[in-house]
Amino acid sequence: MCSWPEGDPGTEAFRFCGKSVAPDKPYCPEHCDRAYNTTVKKRKSAWFQLPRFTKHSDF
Ligand SMILES: [Zn+2]
Repeated sequence: MCSWPEGDPGTEAFRFCGKSVAPDKPYCPEHCDRAYNTTVKKRKSAWFQLPRFTKHSDF
């Protein structure tokens, strides 16, 4: 079962997703994709913080 948390912990609305998952994945495909996209955004923001060495190239 997908163990992706939904709702606020400590309230009655809180529950886990509960959908079926792939054997080697902790979440269902939808939430695996969401987790992956979150990672990509973090990497992207880190990449934008890097200095741009190749920008200044006038001959
Ligand atoms: Zn899920």
